[in-house]
Amino acid sequence: MIKGNCLCGRVKYEYSVEIDEVAVCHCDQCKLAQGTAFATNAPVDASKFKWLEGEDNLTAYFSSANKKRVFCTTCGSPMYSQRTDLPGTIRLRLGTITEGKIPEPHYQIFCKSESQWLVLDIEKPRYEDNKA
Ligand SMILES: [Zn+2]
Ligand SMILES: [Zn+2]
Repeated sequence: MIKGNCLCGRVKYEYSVEIDEVAVCHCDQCKLAQGTAFATNAPVDASKFKWLEGEDNLTAYFSSANKKRVFCTTCGSPMYSQRTDLPGTIRLRLGTITEGKIPEPHYQIFCKSESQWLVLDIEKPRYEDNKA
């Protein structure tokens, strides 16, 4: 069981199973959206993910025609992204998790745009673009 919330606490969620895949994303959109050198995301099964509070306090921004990035309207915490062609998958932002086990990252994507000012020193598979 995983639980999490946004910074202000208005938005709360739970995920009923374990997280089994963690990605480090170095893409330019994630840098801007999270305000960090890279994002840590987990693709989770939308059917096992539930909003406990504050779903109506989320705002979606479409950073691409088929991809929305969803954040708390009050505090701005990035919660997840989702592709319109993959509605069964939520890409959860791992910094919002407050309870439950988060495994180490399994791979890194969009390494072609990796920041040069903060280098992540981990031995994980690297993909220049998205994982195939
Ligand atoms: Zn909030
Ligand atoms: Zn990204």
